[in-house]
Amino acid sequence: MTIATINPLNGEILQTFTPLTSQEIENKLSLGVNGFQDYRLTSLEFRGEKLLKAAVILEENQEKYAQLMTIEMGKPIKQAMTEINKCASVCRFYAENAQKFLTPKYTDTDATKSYVTYQPLGIILAVMPWNFPFWQVFRFLSPALMAGNVGLLKHASNVPQCALAIESILLSAGFPEGVFQTLLIESPQVEKVLRDTRVKAVTLTGSELAGKSVASIAGQELKKSVLELGGSDPFIVLDDANIEEAAQVAVTARLSNNGQTCIAAKRFILHHNIADKFQELLLEKYRNLTLGDPLNPNTDIGPLATPNILKDITNQVNKTVEMGAKVLIGGEIMESKGNFYPPTILTDIPVNSPAMKEEFFGPVALLFRVNNLKEAIDLANNTIFGLGASIWTKNEDNIEIAVRDIESGSVFINGLVKSDLRLPFGGTKQSGYGRELSIEGMHEFVNIKTVWQK
Ligand code: NAP
Repeated sequence: MTIATINPLNGEILQTFTPLTSQEIENKLSLGVNGFQDYRLTSLEFRGEKLLKAAVILEENQEKYAQLMTIEMGKPIKQAMTEINKCASVCRFYAENAQKFLTPKYTDTDATKSYVTYQPLGIILAVMPWNFPFWQVFRFLSPALMAGNVGLLKHASNVPQCALAIESILLSAGFPEGVFQTLLIESPQVEKVLRDTRVKAVTLTGSELAGKSVASIAGQELKKSVLELGGSDPFIVLDDANIEEAAQVAVTARLSNNGQTCIAAKRFILHHNIADKFQELLLEKYRNLTLGDPLNPNTDIGPLATPNILKDITNQVNKTVEMGAKVLIGGEIMESKGNFYPPTILTDIPVNSPAMKEEFFGPVALLFRVNNLKEAIDLANNTIFGLGASIWTKNEDNIEIAVRDIESGSVFINGLVKSDLRLPFGGTKQSGYGRELSIEGMHEFVNIKTVWQK
C-alpha cells in the first residue's frame, strides 16, 4: 500500500511519503540498538518523568492530534478527542505503576536468596493498524518503554502523519534519540526488519492474514510475538435483561469508530422472547444517526477509512443478502465522493453466509435469534474468533455459565466490551495471543529472569 494521507471524506490525496531505503532502515536499527545500551540502564523515575511529559503534550495538543486522526482515517472528531485522552491516561498509568509491576518477586527456596527480576529485551517492533492510530501505539509503547525496551513502529500506510507525530511527541517529552522511532515502510519490508538479530520481539495488531505472516517469521527466528487480531464479538441479550439499556449500549458497541473496532459487538444474539422489541429499539436508534463530515462534532458516523474497506463490507453485505438475509435498514452503497457506507441491520442470516463466518468491519449489525442460553453460547462460539463477548442478563446462574463457556479473551456482563488500563486485553482462537495493558501487558516484553544465590 502506498504510504499516504488520503482524506476518506473525499478521496483527496493530501500527502505522500517515500518508503525508507535499506540504508535508512539500517541507520534506524543501529540508532535503536545503540540507544538501548544507555536506555536500559536508566531509572524508572527517568522513564516515568518522560512518559508523564508525553501525557501533558498529548493533552495540550489534543485537538491537533484528534484532527490528524480524523483527517487520515475518518473517525468522528469527538471520539478522536477521547482517544487522545485515553493515550494520556495509559502514559500516566504505566508511569505510576511500573515500579509495582516490575518489583522483583522473592520466593523461599533452598537458596539464601531467590527471586525473579524483570529486564528489558531490546528493540521491539510494533506493527500497528489505522483504526485507533494513537491508542494502539500508546498502549504498546507505554509499558514497553517503561520496562526499558526501545520501540520501532511500522504503522499502517494510511496514517503516516499520526506515526510521525507520535515519534515527535516522545522526542519532545525527552526520551533519548533511538528509544522510539517510526519506520515509514511498506508491509513487504517488515520481514527483513523482523529477521534482523537486533530486533528481539514483535507485536502486531491487525488482520489474521498479517498476524499469520508476521508470527511465522517470528517463529522461524524464535522471537517472542504478541498478536491482537480481528474479532466477531457476540452481544447476547437474554429475556431477563434490561432491553432498553441493552439496545442503547448496542448502538455504541457496534458503531463506535464508524464500526471499525476489533471489539465491536458484531453479532447480536437475541432470546426470541425479546428479539422483536430489541430489533425495534435498535432500528429506531439507527434511523436517528447522523452521517457526514467526521470533523463536524454533530456527526455520529463518518466515512470508512479506505476504499478497500468500503469494497469489502459492500461485498460481504451483498453476498449475505443474495443468500437470503433481510435488510432492515441500509445495505445500499451511497452516492458520495467519500468512503461512506450506511448503518445497516441484517436479520435472517443464512448459515454459510459471510455474516456467519467473517468479521464485518463497518457499521453493520447482524441479528440472530435463539431459544435459550445454550443456543446463544453455541452460536457465540461458532466462529474462528475469540476476542470479547458481552452478555445481558440479571441471572447469576446464566452469568456463571457464560463466563465458563464463552470462548473469548474477555466477557463483559451488562456492559459493552472495552479496554481498561487496569485489566488485561487480548484474544483467544484466531483473535490472537498474548495480552496488552495491566501487569500482564507489561510482562509480555521482559526477560523474566530467575536469580538464585547460595
Ligand atoms: P492489516 O491490514 O492487517 O494491517 C495492520 C498492520 O499490518 C498495518 O501496519 C499493515 O501495513 C501491516 N501489514 C499488513 N500485512 C502485512 C504483512 N503481510 N506483513 C507485515 N505487515 C503487514 O489490518 P487493518 O486493516 O489495518 O486493521 C483491521 C484489523 O485489525 C481488523 O481485523 C481488526 O479487528 C484488527 N484489530 C485488532 C485489534 C485488537 O486489539 N485485537 C485492534 C484493532 C484492530 P500496511 O498498512 O502498510 O498494509
